[in-house]
Amino acid sequence: MMLRIDILTIFPEMFRGPFDASILKRAREAGLIAIHVHDIRSFTHDRHHTTDDYPFGGGAGMVMKVQPVVEAVEYVCQAAMQDGIKSPAEVILFTPAGQILEQSIAKALAAREHLVLICGRYEGVDERVEKMVVSREISIGDYVLTGGELPAMVLVDTVARLVPGVLGASESLAEESISSGLLEYPQYTRPFDFRGEKVPAVLLSGDHQAVAAWRRCEALRRTFERRPDLLVRAPLSQDDGVTLSSFVRLPEPP
Ligand code: SAM
Repeated sequence: MMLRIDILTIFPEMFRGPFDASILKRAREAGLIAIHVHDIRSFTHDRHHTTDDYPFGGGAGMVMKVQPVVEAVEYVCQAAMQDGIKSPAEVILFTPAGQILEQSIAKALAAREHLVLICGRYEGVDERVEKMVVSREISIGDYVLTGGELPAMVLVDTVARLVPGVLGASESLAEESISSGLLEYPQYTRPFDFRGEKVPAVLLSGDHQAVAAWRRCEALRRTFERRPDLLVRAPLSQDDGVTLSSFVRLPEPP
């Protein structure tokens, strides 16, 4: 099944490039994903193609107008239906007030047929857009960007690689950070020795069991040290519990 993504923006030129290289390019050429970028300005009805206006009640900055955004969403949903898409679109508005993007959300979105991404600008989008057409609000982190275009690129990249067939067999999802519930173990490639910094000997041992045990231990260590919050939800064995307890340093006796 192909995933169709429609991106609504007032800066369509920002999207030249990011989807034209590497895995995303390959996925588009293989017909696994289709990405359409639309200029919200072309859905305005006035001579100046106005997409923003002063906020009611006063205050600094401008607000994106409801009419062009709602009509753009209606247009792409109708176009998708005419192209044979049957299930309703997930319409996503990017906002720092949204749900923080996580791998579990990306997985759910990768299973959809049609995503519509609304990129805000200025002080944000008229609240009625959310009420009338949006099904999900997403933030990419607790910081404020100038627009929703970079969040849209982040979301497309994250979701596209989860669409079945997009990654080759060599680009496995199973063991990578977050998907597995843990951060990934450290990776090395040639040379074995760079300026005296050597690769852990176990990785050259040819002993697959020892390599797997070392990787599991290092994935647990990394997660314990950097993201202990992930351990609460990670699927862990009894052996993992023993490994984790070996990382806990007891306080020195007084
Ligand atoms: N006044 C808004 C507020 O305080 O929430 C911030 C508006 S921001 C300058 C302009 C646009 O950038 C937003 O409408 C949104 O589309 C996008 N944006 C900024 N930071 C974001 C984030 N962390 N995640 C997702 N979108 C973001």
